[in-house]
Amino acid sequence: MINEITIKTGKRNEFVDITQEVSELISAHGVKEGFVILYVPHTTAGITINEHADPSVKRDILNKLEELVPPHEGYTHMEGNADSHIKATLVGNTLTIPISGGRLVLGTWQGIFFCEFDGPRTRKLIVKVVGED
Ligand code: ZN
Repeated sequence: MINEITIKTGKRNEFVDITQEVSELISAHGVKEGFVILYVPHTTAGITINEHADPSVKRDILNKLEELVPPHEGYTHMEGNADSHIKATLVGNTLTIPISGGRLVLGTWQGIFFCEFDGPRTRKLIVKVVGED
C-alpha cells in the first residue's frame, strides 16, 4: 500500500521538517523490520536528510543553494523557475530509510526535510513502507 503526506509550504525556498509525520506514519503502519521509500512527485521540490537540532544548518544549506543557483541567470526554461528545477535535482527526490524495532533508523542529529524550491504550494510526498510486521 502507498501512503501520501500533504505538505503546505509557506515560502519560495524552504526546508520543512517532516521527521515527526513520517515517524508517526511508520508507527501506525505496524512494520517492525524493513524500510521506507520517500518519494517526491514534483520537479521543483526534493527531499534530504540533515541536522535538524540546530536550525542554522538548514538556513546555511538554503543560503548556499541560493548562492550557487541564483534565480535569474540567463536560463532558457520559459516558465521562469529554472533555478527551482536545478535545486530540486541537486538535492534529489527520493530517500530510503531503514526501519528496525518498528522505528525509523536515524542518527541522533538527523531529521528528514521536505525541500521546497518554488513555493508556497501544497505538495505531496509518496510514502511506501516495505517489510514485515
Ligand atoms: Zn518550470
